[in-house]
Amino acid sequence: MLPQVTKLGEIALNLLFPQRCIGCGKEGDLICSSCHSSLPRVMPPLCPRCGRPQPSGILCSSCVSWRAEIDGIRSPFRFDGVMRQAIHQLKYRNLRTLAAPLAQLLEDYLSTNPIPGEVLVPVPLHRKRLRERGYNQSSLLARELGKLTSLPVENEYLIRQRHAPPQARTSTVKERQSNVADAFACRDQRLRDKQVLLIDDVATSGATLDACAAALKAAGVSSVWGLVLAREISKISG
Ligand SMILES: [Zn+2]
Ligand SMILES: [Zn+2]
Repeated sequence: MLPQVTKLGEIALNLLFPQRCIGCGKEGDLICSSCHSSLPRVMPPLCPRCGRPQPSGILCSSCVSWRAEIDGIRSPFRFDGVMRQAIHQLKYRNLRTLAAPLAQLLEDYLSTNPIPGEVLVPVPLHRKRLRERGYNQSSLLARELGKLTSLPVENEYLIRQRHAPPQARTSTVKERQSNVADAFACRDQRLRDKQVLLIDDVATSGATLDACAAALKAAGVSSVWGLVLAREISKISG
């Protein structure tokens, strides 16, 4: 379609179905300015590895005993409030247009909190899940972030070879780790010696990102950091 026609179609759609804030319903932006300022941020000091708040800013107790492949995980937000709603809409309600404003939030974070990374790699879905959903929300985020940062996005090499059962919220870190171990493979050496920045929507224990990092490092990748929009942070374990 011609760009002008697409633009006109967009205007007509907006007149018929005005875009509303997913938090408060106000007409205008998908995340309005007041909902934007109320987003639940992850506040430093952080554990340098897992990125969870940690009073002293040193390795937290779970990272001390974690033989991690991932070099570090960072997330601007907690998985709560409007951020939780936004991710739910992006993931299960097919609101793909949210990927651009959410990627902008990631770019805002990166510009003040630089993370090593010269290529963006989204956490892949298993092809069965991809068929069911029709899209991978992490790929959408990575693509939009790629446009904002001019970093290349690599969708092809890291694959999810096993369809892991959904992780119960009550499962332990060990259970989560064994659940995703060997779930990923890197089928090419073309990322060898590259610094990879993994992109995902949510992280809980970090086991998925770590399993991706293991596969990438087995293919010669030099460093792997994870950047996720939101982090599930339990009030009890910290
Ligand atoms: Zn709002
Ligand atoms: Zn930690």
